[in-house]
Amino acid sequence: MRLILLGPPGAGKGTQAQRLVAKHGIVQLSTGDMLRAAVAAGTPVGLQVKDIMDRGDLCPDEIVVSIIADRIVQPDASNGFVLDGFPRTVAQAEALERMLHEKGLDLDGVVELKVDEGQLLRRIESRIKQTLARGEPLRKDDDPEVLKTRLDAYRRQTAPLIHHYREKSLLRAVDGMAPVDEVTAAINWIFAKPKPQKASTKPDTPQKTKSKSTKKAAPAKKAQPPARKPAKTASRSAKARGGRAVPTKKPAAKKAAGKGARKSAKRR
Ligand code: AMP
Repeated sequence: MRLILLGPPGAGKGTQAQRLVAKHGIVQLSTGDMLRAAVAAGTPVGLQVKDIMDRGDLCPDEIVVSIIADRIVQPDASNGFVLDGFPRTVAQAEALERMLHEKGLDLDGVVELKVDEGQLLRRIESRIKQTLARGEPLRKDDDPEVLKTRLDAYRRQTAPLIHHYREKSLLRAVDGMAPVDEVTAAINWIFAKPKPQKASTKPDTPQKTKSKSTKKAAPAKKAQPPARKPAKTASRSAKARGGRAVPTKKPAAKKAAGKGARKSAKRR
């Protein structure tokens, strides 16, 4: 199984990636983690990207593409992978497609975690407090100002991937503001469905409802549409992009969609 998790920083990609790893026996490939490891080790790549990452800008495509190209051929990725934080530009997506094509592989799907950007700031502030309470060091980009830069980079450079993958009938959107277990159940439901024979022409439609992240977490459910209440609203911009949150109704069957699991719970 080969998946991509798409969403702005703080959307919960890392958490969901870890759950997919546990469920499917695949590996999590997080370019953010790999780049941070390179910075920590002081490698030439690390030295090159350190300031870029501290500012919250995107690193050059050729660097991250080369990291992923090396990584997906490792034996532990042979059973599949979930990409978390890659691709982040259309050029990276096209490079990934070429890499997979050369190996005769396909993506199973791309999950967009739709979130309310206003709430992301509050999430990151709470994450900073939790990190400090655990006595762990803060990441340089754990800073509301840097988060704004990262969100801006997401809107300008990464959000176009939503259209890119929708055109390929690979995109499925879930409500990233729902409780974590509900998000997991929604993702599991997507991948429990059979693969489509051909692409649906039906356009995605946005959800009109909204949810609060403070809701009590529902118990995790098996692969099924967990909440009959609709997945709740993501940001206005996400609505404007027209992604469809699942599960809401039986969608037409369509392709849905680290270096190892992260050692510590990663935010996103
Ligand atoms: P993340 O942990 O995924 O939010 O990534 C942290 C930082 O690493 C980002 O703000 C970027 O500076 C850099 N980064 C991670 N993945 C990529 C990517 N695919 N393309 C460019 N820069 C990336």
